[in-house]
Amino acid sequence: MIAELVTTGSELLLGQIVNTNAAYLAQELNKIGVDVCFQTTVGDNRERMKEVLSHALTRADIVITSGGLGPTRGDITKEVSAEVMGRTMALNEKCAERLKKYFARVGREMTENNLRQAMIPEGAHVFVNHAGTAPGVALEEKGKLLVNLPGPPPEMKDMFRRSLAPYLAEKSGVRTIILSRVLHTFGIGESMLETKLDDLILAQKNPTLALLVRPTGVIIRITAKAADEETARLLIEPAEKEIRARLGEFVYAIDDETMEEVVGRELKSRGLSVATAESCTGGLVASRLTDVAGSSEYVKGGVVSYTDEVKAEVLGVSRDLLAREGAVSGAVARAMAEGVRQKLGTDLGVSTTGLAGPGGGTEGTPVGTVFVAIAGSEGTQAEKYLFTGKRGQIKFRASQAALAMLRGYIKRYEQ
Ligand code: ATP
Ligand code: MG
Repeated sequence: MIAELVTTGSELLLGQIVNTNAAYLAQELNKIGVDVCFQTTVGDNRERMKEVLSHALTRADIVITSGGLGPTRGDITKEVSAEVMGRTMALNEKCAERLKKYFARVGREMTENNLRQAMIPEGAHVFVNHAGTAPGVALEEKGKLLVNLPGPPPEMKDMFRRSLAPYLAEKSGVRTIILSRVLHTFGIGESMLETKLDDLILAQKNPTLALLVRPTGVIIRITAKAADEETARLLIEPAEKEIRARLGEFVYAIDDETMEEVVGRELKSRGLSVATAESCTGGLVASRLTDVAGSSEYVKGGVVSYTDEVKAEVLGVSRDLLAREGAVSGAVARAMAEGVRQKLGTDLGVSTTGLAGPGGGTEGTPVGTVFVAIAGSEGTQAEKYLFTGKRGQIKFRASQAALAMLRGYIKRYEQ
């Protein structure tokens, strides 16, 4: 079934409100197996709305509008809908009764124009509004369905959930749900991922696979369509298993899980503590580690050692080394991680030093160069990275690399 969403209101066209109704409806309709193929927005203008609705009915089986069901003259969606479906409007006694009761209950005077909301196209199916006053309507004609929902998001959502979703499910006689599993990767680029998964991507049908680049790394979304959740899960399982087998350690988390949560869990389960020594990330690694509830169990503290002086005085990095190698170097990163581990008495030390830019780059050390080091009882390990992007992006990527390296290092310890 093909659907078109028609959101109405001049405020939308002027950009004064964000069209969250379209986003909500698209997501929810997709979940129940209705394909949203068109989205249109039109102002509160009779002729243009008529044109949009007539056109929508030529290319979609279901047309769903939101907005313009209110009591004022500018609210014309129901009238125009009736017109394009060739229906006349009449006062619906039940709706009028409900309106009167509503106004009596809230103690407000009911004005004449309020009754406009009880004017319903003949032969329409009425959806009761439990969150406001304007009823919704569904009109059917020659295999086409035209639905009017109210504009205020709480009313629209409530009506969708209570009335429209069950109504559509009954009409189609099929129930389809969409289930996704997201695999988060780090340290592998989009093109390398595509190469490794090429045959799976080409053969995809149900579930489908999508690669999406995110600040945290590339994510792989596996999406299955099925009659129920259990069937969808069974479709996703083998695909996920195969992808994991091919990617191994590149996959660090699933669904909503973050790198800092994963690292926290790994530290906790091994009873390890950590301290940070950060230069270019300015405390972001510590900040992300402590975003996780309960992180006081394994984060002991950190030093933002931005200048050479703090690297030397607080962390004990040798001045000779700083002069000889430069602050942005693997040797200094190692000394920082070892220094903070010793000073704070933790099992692990993690450090970052680099050039976030935009200025300060040289041929040998361009902007985006970042060294990360991890120190622990298994020795000290350092890596060099080259990130692209603006200052904030480089800082975030460096923090992600530091957390990912920490995750890799922790695996050397027994659980
Ligand atoms: P009312 O009875 O309040 O007039 P209505 O059904 O006539 O409701 P509109 O007048 O079109 O709906 O919109 C009412 C309010 O609902 C808008 O001012 C806006 O805040 C919100 N709204 C309408 N359409 C959308 C939309 N597509 N996305 C998000 N919010 C919306
Ligand atoms: Mg209105």
